[in-house]
Amino acid sequence: MTARCIRLRLDGAPPIRYSTENRLAGRFAEAGRQDHNLGKDQPMSDSVFPAGNLMKGKRGLVMGVANKNSIAWGIAQQLAAQGAELAFSYQGEELEKRVRPLVESLPGSPFMVTADVTDDASMDACFEALQKKWGRMDFLVHAIAFAGKDELQGSFTHNTTRDGFKRAMDVSAFSFVDAAKRASALMPDGGAMVCLTYLGSERVVPNYNVMGVAKAALEASTRYIARDLGPHGIRVNAISAGPMRTLAMAGISGGRTLMKTGKDWSMLKEDTRMEGVAGAALYLLSDLGHSCTGEVLHVDAGFHAVGVPDIAEEG
Ligand code: NAD
Repeated sequence: MTARCIRLRLDGAPPIRYSTENRLAGRFAEAGRQDHNLGKDQPMSDSVFPAGNLMKGKRGLVMGVANKNSIAWGIAQQLAAQGAELAFSYQGEELEKRVRPLVESLPGSPFMVTADVTDDASMDACFEALQKKWGRMDFLVHAIAFAGKDELQGSFTHNTTRDGFKRAMDVSAFSFVDAAKRASALMPDGGAMVCLTYLGSERVVPNYNVMGVAKAALEASTRYIARDLGPHGIRVNAISAGPMRTLAMAGISGGRTLMKTGKDWSMLKEDTRMEGVAGAALYLLSDLGHSCTGEVLHVDAGFHAVGVPDIAEEG
């Protein structure tokens, strides 16, 4: 870990160390989610975000921090460690209590604004505030998804309702189209965008159900948005992360098994690491990512490419 970190450092500055205590089980109970045991016996390791100047002079909006385990928060810390100026949108006053102390721990007093992606007036207000504050921006991070818990279990065919389908698609797929439209209007000099997806879009994953369908729509949207915005110098990509212990994962029935299988079947035999996901976002959002657009980049310890898990020697 240390060796990798030193290799990546550009300016000799110490990396930001992100320490995460495992208090997820309590959080899940608080949130009324399903898998209260998820992550209980698997403390998350510290994440190290290499410091440098890759994002210096770039400003962007991070959508989707709910708490310190959020993928958006890992990405935000990595971007901040590379000099990005950040704004954060969060889903309503309830989350502000958790998000504000995190955001205030970053250098440079990042800007915070509430935005419910299902509400046009709220999105209008968010992007008007950004326009007023910055006038222009360089990148967008979209790490937002939602489906009702009844739809994240059992039979996709029998449990998916019209309203649940529309809601999952609205929050988890359309919101990226909407945010990309609004953000691109503030990117006259080009820019970059990333969203977060999961393998359940390409393959059947038990209980992922309607969210898999929404992620397929999100990935297709990524390609269409990339085509539209390409001529304006804006690159648009998706990161397909392996299972990670977050609130969103806790809403999926059997999330603990997903985590264990994700590790046991993976090529690297490890959990997907926040450093890997945040590092992929840094690559895609910085100038390192030149020429890469319309891509779905898998960061899942190689799980997506495995056809058959390890077979014990036959005697
Ligand atoms: P998370 O719960 O920390 O983040 C989900 C975010 O979505 C929260 O901040 C929540 O407030 C936001 N959100 C939901 N409805 C919203 C609305 N109407 N308006 C505004 N915001 C809303 O969980 P996470 O795992 O960090 O999820 C981030 C992204 O990563 C999601 O797109 C998720 O599908 C994706 N992802 C997660 C995993 C995983 O295993 N955790 C794997 C692959 C992809």
